Amino acid sequence: DSFHSLPLTPAFLANLDILGYKTMTPIQAQSLPSVLEGRDLIAQAQTGSGKTAAFGIGMLSKLNPAWFATQGLVLCPTRELADQVANELRRLARGVGNVKVLVLTGGAPMRPQIASLEHGAHIVVGTPGRIRDHLGRQTLDLSTVNTLVLDEADRMTDMGFYDEIAGIVSACPKRRQTLLFSATYPDDIRVATEAFLADPLEVII
Ligand code: AMP
Repeated sequence: DSFHSLPLTPAFLANLDILGYKTMTPIQAQSLPSVLEGRDLIAQAQTGSGKTAAFGIGMLSKLNPAWFATQGLVLCPTRELADQVANELRRLARGVGNVKVLVLTGGAPMRPQIASLEHGAHIVVGTPGRIRDHLGRQTLDLSTVNTLVLDEADRMTDMGFYDEIAGIVSACPKRRQTLLFSATYPDDIRVATEAFLADPLEVII
């Protein structure tokens, strides 16, 4: 399965070639055609499956770099995962243009994060507690988000983040694309899927 079968721009495809992404991984092949049409997704896929590129390509394909607003939000359970996701998104974004990806996670001081938010970011990647914190201080505006990703959602709910996630989702527009990734499917994730996703494609790898 070649990425060239997907409706992506020549620049985006050229960058995938440069990154050495020749064929789609199974999660990418099964999800990207629908994700690129705007459909919601719930996917059961492990780290190493290429899930970051699956949602990253979906998010970046509709991102407008000339619009300085937060168009994509990725929620992750840990700082380490948020950093990894942001780095992968930055590599993929070279095929789009000048895209600012900002990491907002706990443990790091607030002030530099607030300064970065004042300069604007196209994509925010963060952990639920810190994102909620910024929403409470009104230093983060999610009203322009068109793609919301819940990555490793089961780990986030295991850590007790369900209420934070619900608050963050309600700060995003109702009209948006939501992509949820989870290795397991416990009750919390079932509830989250019903509450946050609309007619999602289900993919199990
Ligand atoms: P992930 O499952 O998102 O953590 O991705 C695992 C690794 O696979 C990352 O280092 C990606 O850069 C790489 N990767 C993702 N998709 C592809 C692909 N289609 N071809 C080659 N490498 C890929």
